Amino acid sequence: MRLIVTGGAGYIGSVVTAALLADGHEVTVLDDLSTGHADAVPDGATLADVSLHDSGPVLAEVRPDAVLHFAAKSLVGASQQHPEDYWHTNVVGSLALFEAMRAADCRRIVFSSTAATYGEPDAVPIREEAPTRPTNTYGASKLAIDHMLTSYAVAHGFAAVSLRYFHVAGAAHGLGERHGTETHLIPIALQVAAGQRESLTVFGQDYPTPDGTCIRDYVHVGDLADAHLLALPAPAAGEHRIYNLGNGTGFSVQEVVDAAREVTGHPIPVQVGPRRAGDPAQLVASSDRIRADLGWAPRHTDLVGIVRDAWETMRAQP
Ligand code: UDP
Repeated sequence: MRLIVTGGAGYIGSVVTAALLADGHEVTVLDDLSTGHADAVPDGATLADVSLHDSGPVLAEVRPDAVLHFAAKSLVGASQQHPEDYWHTNVVGSLALFEAMRAADCRRIVFSSTAATYGEPDAVPIREEAPTRPTNTYGASKLAIDHMLTSYAVAHGFAAVSLRYFHVAGAAHGLGERHGTETHLIPIALQVAAGQRESLTVFGQDYPTPDGTCIRDYVHVGDLADAHLLALPAPAAGEHRIYNLGNGTGFSVQEVVDAAREVTGHPIPVQVGPRRAGDPAQLVASSDRIRADLGWAPRHTDLVGIVRDAWETMRAQP
């Protein structure tokens, strides 16, 4: 297929672009490089350096068969301080993209949604039927886009899939996480091991979990890429499907730190700090629906293996 990947210069978008190229697709990456890196765009893809708001001419020229939409602002803390950026880029930008798709007669889309659309869960593992009560603007903006896609499917015949990622980690195709402002646990632990930080602060050790630290579901970015390839042809016109993507096992912050120590051989000094606002005790996905419908199954469920892939790729980067 001829494809547009928005956000293809970012972490997940670049890995999925590499997987799409390996599968024989033709890819144009649409990315304004506000947080992405031009050198992360895999060889073989064309880069259009424009924002979502200005995506119309690119879609008119490429006439894609489908769009994979990753481009977004994605930091929970920043979304609370500057909500306007999140509504503008994520919601207004996505609206511009969907209108550009209609104008180019392209109606197939796979969208990067998030576990943050659910907020504090009543029960884990979280299923797609769970109530959506986001606790921050980031999650609210992604939920708004999910709602936009439902209405575009009904009114305009879009064939859409929202993939609700839990905690994406690891590396694939030589591409890993490289954020200007790093807030995520695994990269921070690895930065300590690489000597780029003194220590790691564990945000709260008084949660109702076995070791008192938060439990999260870490899904390998290569498994996530598999899910996009399966999702792309799946929906019919007029259909908007929603799938959770996690590996179904929760690991605590302490277990992640232990895995990073094992992989790197570094002691990774830790301090215990207060809880981070808005952090639920446990976020674990039920991915039963995508397993049943599309036959997806994660191949990298071992935490040490996920952290090792991230570490090796980080070490190989300039
Ligand atoms: N976390 C932590 N110290 C850090 C960064 C994260 O203890 O320096 C914890 C955080 O409180 C949460 C888990 O690690 O329980 C995963 O957080 P991360 O920021 O990686 O992912 P998010 O939950 O924001 O998607």
